[in-house]
Amino acid sequence: MIFRQLFEPQSSAYTYLIACADSREAALIDPVLETVERDLQLLEELGLTLRYTIETHIHADHVTGASRLRERTGCQCALPEKSGAARVDVPVREGEPIRVGACAIEPLYTPGHTDDHHAYYVAGEGGRVFTGDALLIDGCGRTDFQNGDAATLYRSVHEKVFALPGETLVYPGHDYQQRHVSSVAQERERNPRLGGGKSVEEFVAIMGALNLPRPKKMDIAVPANRECGQVH
Ligand code: FE
Repeated sequence: MIFRQLFEPQSSAYTYLIACADSREAALIDPVLETVERDLQLLEELGLTLRYTIETHIHADHVTGASRLRERTGCQCALPEKSGAARVDVPVREGEPIRVGACAIEPLYTPGHTDDHHAYYVAGEGGRVFTGDALLIDGCGRTDFQNGDAATLYRSVHEKVFALPGETLVYPGHDYQQRHVSSVAQERERNPRLGGGKSVEEFVAIMGALNLPRPKKMDIAVPANRECGQVH
């Protein structure tokens, strides 16, 4: 398997490249519009054919690069079916892996940050889980808009992510402090919101007290992302 973690500084968003070393087919999880050219250059350098863009959810803080990448490469755009988004080629559902060559990308339905959110699990080399905004390193995505719900997020993380083997590497959708990777065992033990035996009631109280500002790009990003990142 070929793997790269890529960063977009404006939104502090991570994009992940997953590819099969034999078939040279690739997928990009959560590409960002601003970094499409970088992603295309990397694909070319590595001699890869982009088959899929895959979204964890409808993002509120940045526009996905999915549509632009589809125009440039002819790839297919995979989005959670529950998002109800338009122009989707592959509706994502738990239990239906997306395959690039020998590599299976398994969707895990993890609502709570948004009601369409999926994490993705890739086996091999100890296993990796791409947690989007459900679980961040020492944190988690907000639960106060886009049909978010703190108790639902608590259940998603505990039942779908913390249930994975402890050595599974956790790759988040964002990090604001230059951290790159964690593990299921670390987050289970140390995550200050969701780990260390915190109860659902404690978690709901923490999330209810955050009072976060509205994301600056929300009014542009959400409508665009409901069409795979089509900007009108
Ligand atoms: Fe998000």
